[in-house]
Amino acid sequence: APRPPRQRIAVLGATGSIGTHTLDVVSQHPQRFEVVALSAERQVDALLALCERFRPRWAVIGAAQYEALAQGLRQRGLPTKALAGPHGLVEVAAHPDVDTVMAAIVGAAGLAPCLAAARAGKRLLLANKEALVVGGEVFLDAVRAGGARLLPIDSEHSAIFQALPEDPLTWPQRVEKIVLTASGGPFRQRDPATLDRVTPEEACAHPNWVMGRKISVDSATMMNKALEVIEAHYLFGFAPQHIEVVIHPQSVVHSMVQYRDRSIVAQLGTPDMRVPIAYGLSWPERIASGAAPLDFATLGALTFEPPQRQRFPGLFLAWEALQAPPGTTAVLNAANEVAVAAFLDGRLRFDRIHAVNRGTLEAYAPSKPATLDDVLAIDREARARAAEHVRRWTVR
Ligand code: NAD
Ligand code: MG
Repeated sequence: APRPPRQRIAVLGATGSIGTHTLDVVSQHPQRFEVVALSAERQVDALLALCERFRPRWAVIGAAQYEALAQGLRQRGLPTKALAGPHGLVEVAAHPDVDTVMAAIVGAAGLAPCLAAARAGKRLLLANKEALVVGGEVFLDAVRAGGARLLPIDSEHSAIFQALPEDPLTWPQRVEKIVLTASGGPFRQRDPATLDRVTPEEACAHPNWVMGRKISVDSATMMNKALEVIEAHYLFGFAPQHIEVVIHPQSVVHSMVQYRDRSIVAQLGTPDMRVPIAYGLSWPERIASGAAPLDFATLGALTFEPPQRQRFPGLFLAWEALQAPPGTTAVLNAANEVAVAAFLDGRLRFDRIHAVNRGTLEAYAPSKPATLDDVLAIDREARARAAEHVRRWTVR
């Protein structure tokens, strides 16, 4: 029998943690997948190495590195065409010769290519949760208008997607709530009085997952879970009061769905992002991911505890932002991106990330966005406000 055509994949954010794991899964199934585009923000050498290995049709990099990339591709005699900046990302995300887009850029910078992929009706594998938190209904409108298939890559949302019935029309009748699990990050048991002294290295040392620096800081503040509550609301349509968070330090139960009859369906596995990535790539089928099986002989106890407001105040901003007018989740995300960058840069104390986020939310009530430009304007304005708050809190 003739082989089915290979899925042609664009990996945006290919040099990052999710990008690398995606290429690992893809490499295990060369007969199923073909890498046709790769992108990175600045890492020319890493991107060139990936181009040698996967020989994509396009490679996209930030404008400042374009010349270095183009020259490197020529020197290696590679067939890959270099593209630059946001326009290059949008071009490959919407190209007719691309079937699937892995959105693994970090932050609101990934929104424009996500929308382009959505409008072009791609299979869109969404790791870039900030894009959905920022884009909200505008993002979902683009998915509907383009007939795209949006598949979650975040482990919690993949778990919920696996635990929900196939037909979304049955969800409101059958489901009572969804329960997102959270590891609690590196400071689950640290004395809150010492959170003013946290260094970037401490914040990025996650107990269960090795991830990019931004999401690692978000895990330490639990702002990552706040973004995931918002992400779950947009992905699955549940009201904020039907989304709950529980701390589960072992990261084995990846999330749960509670049904009307109080039956709970959970998804379990070793904490390895290749599992949700493989599911997104192969859905509705299943393929090998390379992850180790869960070993019940050595697993030990699975424990659960409620998140404490005084230790993780940022988490609770999710429900506040979802209850506020549309556009507010974009303000929260922008403030958090600015605050985390300032913290990683040594300009803001760890415990003041929340002060910046809360201060920005209180200072700026956006009007309802209808287009990508509206959303980007809110994002810009919120970043400017957040930068003022950072300056106000700066120690030096
Ligand atoms: P990372 O920092 O390791 O990688 C980010 C990638 O995006 C890199 O390839 C980088 O070059 C590129 N990039 C960064 N800024 C860019 C910009 N302004 N323009 C274009 N490209 C840019 O991050 P990561 O940990 O892989 O996370 C990627 C996304 O996936 C984030 O939204 C994160 O929240 C989400 N996510 C990650 C994990 C994980 O385990 N790492 C789990 C769930 C969700
Ligand atoms: Mg997650």
